[in-house]
Amino acid sequence: MRIAADIVLTNGRVWRGLGHGFAEAIALWGGKVLASGTAHEIAELTGPHTQVIDLAGRLATPGLNDAHMHLLPYGAAMEEVDLRPRAAPTLESLLGALRARARETPPGDWVIGRGYDHFRLDTGRHPTRDELDAALPDHPVWIVRTDGHLAVANTMALARAGIDENTSSPPGGLIEKRDGRLTGLLAETAREPVLAVLPRADIEALAGFIERGGRDLLAHGITSCMEAAVGIRDGWLEMQAYQKAHRENRLPLRVYACLMGDVTRNLLPEAEAAGMCTGGGDARLRIGPVKIFTDGSAGGRTAAMTKPYLGGGPDDKGILCLPSDQLTQMVGDAHRAGWQMAIHAIGDAAIDQVLDAYEAALTAMPDPQRRHRIEHCGWLRPDQMARMQNLHILPAPQPAFMYWFGDLYLTLAEPERVAASHPMRTWIENGLEPSASTDCPVVEIDPFANLYAMITRKTASGTVLGADQALSLEEALHAYTHAGAYASREEAIKGCLLPGRLADIAVFDRDLFTVSPEEIRAAACDITILDGRIVYRREDAAG
Ligand SMILES: [Zn+2]
Repeated sequence: MRIAADIVLTNGRVWRGLGHGFAEAIALWGGKVLASGTAHEIAELTGPHTQVIDLAGRLATPGLNDAHMHLLPYGAAMEEVDLRPRAAPTLESLLGALRARARETPPGDWVIGRGYDHFRLDTGRHPTRDELDAALPDHPVWIVRTDGHLAVANTMALARAGIDENTSSPPGGLIEKRDGRLTGLLAETAREPVLAVLPRADIEALAGFIERGGRDLLAHGITSCMEAAVGIRDGWLEMQAYQKAHRENRLPLRVYACLMGDVTRNLLPEAEAAGMCTGGGDARLRIGPVKIFTDGSAGGRTAAMTKPYLGGGPDDKGILCLPSDQLTQMVGDAHRAGWQMAIHAIGDAAIDQVLDAYEAALTAMPDPQRRHRIEHCGWLRPDQMARMQNLHILPAPQPAFMYWFGDLYLTLAEPERVAASHPMRTWIENGLEPSASTDCPVVEIDPFANLYAMITRKTASGTVLGADQALSLEEALHAYTHAGAYASREEAIKGCLLPGRLADIAVFDRDLFTVSPEEIRAAACDITILDGRIVYRREDAAG
């Protein structure tokens, strides 16, 4: 008996994965890759019911895997006021967008905006509560910086959260004051009193956010992602929303669910009571690692560094969220219980702390394939590389930060420190399988900025940061496919297009291997296939 394929993609270039070369055509059957080869060979597998897609010279790759992003908040942000630089480049346009939302919002109800970047705003600084008060006197207002770690509240919002001039900054957070007056800017843990009084979404709304965000990822050729902080806002209800979306066939792509395991936001008691541990679930919704935050963001000057930020005092080195002994205890407990860890650490001081905790846990109970991760891991020092290698700790960086934030980084640290950050090539040479991701909605989900940054190391303005760390396109695609699967311990089922692997495929509008980096930056996804079914076609979306 000869199997007839469900789908054949032919007459183009199929990149099967790093070291697996190219094919002209590929056949899919039963949700898996059946075979790949020349157009002639694959034509043999075509039957009367086979859907044949003419690639017409375009490139097909394994579906992309965004190894660290925030799907539910991304879907939710689609309903908030868009304050990203493209939508609101000036303070005036930012306030105008908020005023427009206020006009359709009953007085006293919240107006929430997301995505401003003070560095790229025309004023070059955060908006203030006075400016928000003047523009929106009748609504509590909450606007979140692009990195999610800082936000500005107006007076009504601060009052609802119980924050006034006499409130002092909590541990691991900052309530900014100037001449004793609140500016409205809140960083890290200082945001929590406001987050606690924001309106809550119910499980149906949360599932809707997941569905809406997920569909958008499919439109970018992304078939797998890690949701990097399930429970960060709405606790266990978020995990239940994921399960509901999955059960009701409304989970558009494969999700590796990383559960919050912080001091104040901890899903482990509920997860363990439900019998969950890393690796559980199925190929659509997989239980992932445990998330702990140890510092803030570089752009917000809250990432914990061993050397001060440029332009600040000697103590301007960011914020460590946890004492080291507490972190070591938390990591040890979760490690013993079988969990993979995914700890947020951006600055080298935070990375030191995490490596100490991993070393203690892995020494007490060795497990060479646990593959603990460091999320972001941007600013590690060269001497920390050997420790990562010895412990086999995987970095989960966002190369796209170099593109979007690289020009900002040059105002925060010495050029050689910036050039040495996000060392993709050295990680690869050390066998640490760096994945690629966007941290979306921190930056746009667009995979092409990431690919562009990995192969050119260029910022948005064109400055090259550490050319020695640039990757080939094959290596960059490997980071976006196989390495993401490796980081979720699923490389045996996805991440390349060998026979038997899941039939998850992205088709791009051009052959990325034959065009300039600038043309890669401008590319688009034409077709996305998941489980051997077409789940996105650009021509349908446009029409
Ligand atoms: Zn994140």
